[in-house]
Amino acid sequence: MSDNNLEDLFAHNRAWSAQMERDRPGFFTSLVKQQTPRYMWIGCSDSRVPANQITGLEPGEVFVHRNVANIVVHSDLNALSAIQFAVEHLKVEHIMVVGHYGCAGVKAALSGKRIGLADNWIRHIQDVRDRHSVMIESLPEEVRVDALCELNVAEQVVNVAVSTVMVDAWARGQKVQIHGWTFGVHDGLLQDLGLSVDGAKPLDTAYKAAVQRIRYKWSKPAGAALASPSAQAGADGTEGTAK
Ligand SMILES: [Zn+2]
Repeated sequence: MSDNNLEDLFAHNRAWSAQMERDRPGFFTSLVKQQTPRYMWIGCSDSRVPANQITGLEPGEVFVHRNVANIVVHSDLNALSAIQFAVEHLKVEHIMVVGHYGCAGVKAALSGKRIGLADNWIRHIQDVRDRHSVMIESLPEEVRVDALCELNVAEQVVNVAVSTVMVDAWARGQKVQIHGWTFGVHDGLLQDLGLSVDGAKPLDTAYKAAVQRIRYKWSKPAGAALASPSAQAGADGTEGTAK
């Protein structure tokens, strides 16, 4: 059974390659020469959140790093190496940290449910949960996972911003912005959390403002169309969708 499925993947790949070459003769030849992406995407490994398809970007246009629950840990050489390569060599202009609603990693972190080795990874989100425990516990239970998903994004934006890679890049005068976004698996839409940092404005102020917006957004009275992202997408008072 699996053999057939894997054959399908190769067949689809050959068809895709041929179609691309028909539509855009020389496409792959030009890709070989260089990649010049303007964007770096740091997202969740979740199979429902594919960076290129969501943003309509083609091969060569977005540099991607994904892990469980889009976490950037201060000492994670994998993530930091990817960020360094993207910033110093590819000269990306925008780094977006993209969380998604209904993230299994965030859910596990919130509930404290044990899922295995990943518990140690998820622990980073539990730190976020604990940091904002008063706010989270004040929210209706059904929106807490989505609120924590957004808080996690805000936290990871800060983690990227304080990395030596970004501190050095901004000290050199390199123009790179970091953005916090979320993705709705239920509607396929990106939302901008309004937290964009560029090394010029105070990071702490931007972070605190974002956290306040998240608190305000999710603490609206029940019945104000907030029960879930599927109910409130686009009507939540954030600064519009990003793309
Ligand atoms: Zn996820």
